[in-house]
Amino acid sequence: MVPKERIDKILDGYDLNNITIATLCSHSSLQIFHGARKMGFNTIGITISHDTKYYEAFPLGKPDEIIKYKDLDDMEANVDKLHDKNVVIIPHGSFVEYVGPKRFEDYEVPVYCNREVLRWESNRDMERQWLTSAGIMMPRAFTDAREINEPVMVKYHGAKGGRGYFIAKDYPDFKMSVDQSMPYSIQEYCLGTRYYLHFFYSPFKNTGYKLKRGGSLELLSIDRRDESNIDEMYKLGSIEDAKRHGLYPSFVVTGNTPAVLRESLLPKAFTIAENAVERSYELFNGMWGPFCLETVVTDKLEFKVFEISTRIVAGTNPFISGSPYADLIYPGLSTGGRIAMEIKESIKNGHLKDLMT
Ligand code: AMP
Repeated sequence: MVPKERIDKILDGYDLNNITIATLCSHSSLQIFHGARKMGFNTIGITISHDTKYYEAFPLGKPDEIIKYKDLDDMEANVDKLHDKNVVIIPHGSFVEYVGPKRFEDYEVPVYCNREVLRWESNRDMERQWLTSAGIMMPRAFTDAREINEPVMVKYHGAKGGRGYFIAKDYPDFKMSVDQSMPYSIQEYCLGTRYYLHFFYSPFKNTGYKLKRGGSLELLSIDRRDESNIDEMYKLGSIEDAKRHGLYPSFVVTGNTPAVLRESLLPKAFTIAENAVERSYELFNGMWGPFCLETVVTDKLEFKVFEISTRIVAGTNPFISGSPYADLIYPGLSTGGRIAMEIKESIKNGHLKDLMT
């Protein structure tokens, strides 16, 4: 992990009137660049193998400059150019996945997040420890597959975007589908409606939904993911029928659609998010900026949180020009715009170092 003192030293050398916001050309980069440009920042798109021609189709989401590296070693070795351009990185889900957690921790460029959070987020046991100790209800975990006595979700560690997950209803069902060569975890299959809640925590804001420790929590938007092929599986009749024809359900994310919660669920949603933030400060010096709670709401109107993402998620992309929630705080602002606004204000108020690791 890059020592915080090193990052602070890099920031000491920056021209704060000329900060550049950079991210990897993928995931939510159009939104990040669009928001950064709206707030008056320079922007850089970082790429290795990513296609960047599509930016030509979206001039307002196109970065001012694209830097193409040969490979990850090249990217890691050539940080000086980014320092010269006063770059701060906005990490998104694909950024961490693409460069890998170790390289991400060691990347010598200021990053807008607490890098410590990665260890808690990427290890399923630590994530569970964090959230359950914050009083948040999660799907029940099974430690022994022979105890499966209800529908469960089997998740391979490090699986990307739901690929390879499967549902099992009992032990024989599990044995038939599992690949024992990969580590996995088993959890209760939560039946209900899925909502992916996009929160933003500002440690400096002192209006709005305030937290005990200070700062303010915002709900910027909510989406529901489109997942192939599970979303359309019902059209083939029962999953068991489909399996007999060699068609197995999968949970591969292909897109996102906007959603809103019934209003009476909002207090619960805020309490869960608040508890997750408060606990993060007790455990590892905090989580700030955008984060997403991936939830199922049961027919008893209870939230079960099956995952937390501690940075901007692609589910915020339907809301580039605002959302039913953001419009009640900052009309027309996206999560990308909110990030840029936070950085801009932190520069003005001398807090930039507090947001970067
Ligand atoms: P994840 O990688 O944890 O975000 O999960 C990928 C997808 O699997 C989610 O978007 C849900 O559709 C589904 N999923 C994950 N965990 C559960 C669960 N415990 N119960 C029901 N569906 C789940």
